[in-house]
Amino acid sequence: MKKHNFYAGPSILPQYTIDKSIEGIRDFAGTGLSVLEISHRSKEFIACMDNAIGLVKELLDVPSGYQVIFLGGGASLQFAMVPMNLMNSRSAYLITGEWASKAFREAKIYGEALEVASSKDKNFSYIPKNYSLPSDVDYFHITTNNTIYGTQLREDPLVPVPLVADMSSDIFSRPVDVSRYSIIYAGAQKNLAPAGVAMVIIKEDVLGKVTRPIPTMLDYRTHIKAGSMFNTPPVFTVFAAEQTLKWLKELGGVKAIEKKNIEKAQMLYDEIERNKLFKPTVGDHEDRSLMNICFIMTDEYKELEKDFLEFAKSRGIIGIAGHRSVGGFRASTYNALPAESVKALVDTMKEFEKNR
Ligand SMILES: *Cc1c(COP(=O)(O)O)cnc(C)c1O
Repeated sequence: MKKHNFYAGPSILPQYTIDKSIEGIRDFAGTGLSVLEISHRSKEFIACMDNAIGLVKELLDVPSGYQVIFLGGGASLQFAMVPMNLMNSRSAYLITGEWASKAFREAKIYGEALEVASSKDKNFSYIPKNYSLPSDVDYFHITTNNTIYGTQLREDPLVPVPLVADMSSDIFSRPVDVSRYSIIYAGAQKNLAPAGVAMVIIKEDVLGKVTRPIPTMLDYRTHIKAGSMFNTPPVFTVFAAEQTLKWLKELGGVKAIEKKNIEKAQMLYDEIERNKLFKPTVGDHEDRSLMNICFIMTDEYKELEKDFLEFAKSRGIIGIAGHRSVGGFRASTYNALPAESVKALVDTMKEFEKNR
């Protein structure tokens, strides 16, 4: 039976990426060697790294003055690298979920981190608005898509201080005005590649302003200077990322995928609203994520949650259990998830409703 992969991360990748990865594992770029055993200093892999970086710049229209690097350690290491490299005295954080809170905790290790606003009062079911941002902070950190709670900030804020964004779960899902950000970072395993790498876009002129000593491996300048080859990069993950980026370009880029993402999300939110068994956890339409769609059962049918999960599983629908801090269901509708999978979930919801 066809499986529909709604996992939140690691998550579905394009079939193209999987097929090219299999080819690359057998024979990488005609070398007669596997991508799993190739030297990262080989000219073929250097070309792959350069191409991946070039595609990121092209797809997101990255302006000059910015660098793109691939680093190990996932998005979670960026929670620490950002304050280490950028914060002299104070920084500001918008607390919109668990990942934002984790980033905030790391910043506090290195200085005074301010919480400018939080949506914790309503279990992170909305994006705070109308907060005031101090003008003397070294940077302002936001999380554009809150993977666990299903909220998303789909506009690029224009702020008078350097803006840093964790885009782990919505990178490449829409066009982004990179010029508004000083740092954008994203773990690969949601919209790009298997786990093992974080992609970072950095405006070079924000670096070199802190006085603390930074360990060589944790200094962005090290990796910029070495073209992400200071130490051995996660070779296979970068290769897979290159494949996904090629796939996305072929498809028409971020504008084209955004259109598909809006259609997929609309289809599912419409059914959640229509179906008497379900309701969305995020009320405000403009805060609703296009990547992670969270919903629960209405009070009357609450006891059917387990049954629905089982029923969905029998239809090949995998990975829709909600995160333990929200409960209910979460359908992750990342770039690679085909509309047919969303349709399959909607049909399953309809069918389940019919029998009640
Ligand atoms: C998944 C995720 C992370 C954590 O990524 P790791 O690569 O596991 O460190 C951080 N932020 C957001 C928004 C995420 O979705």
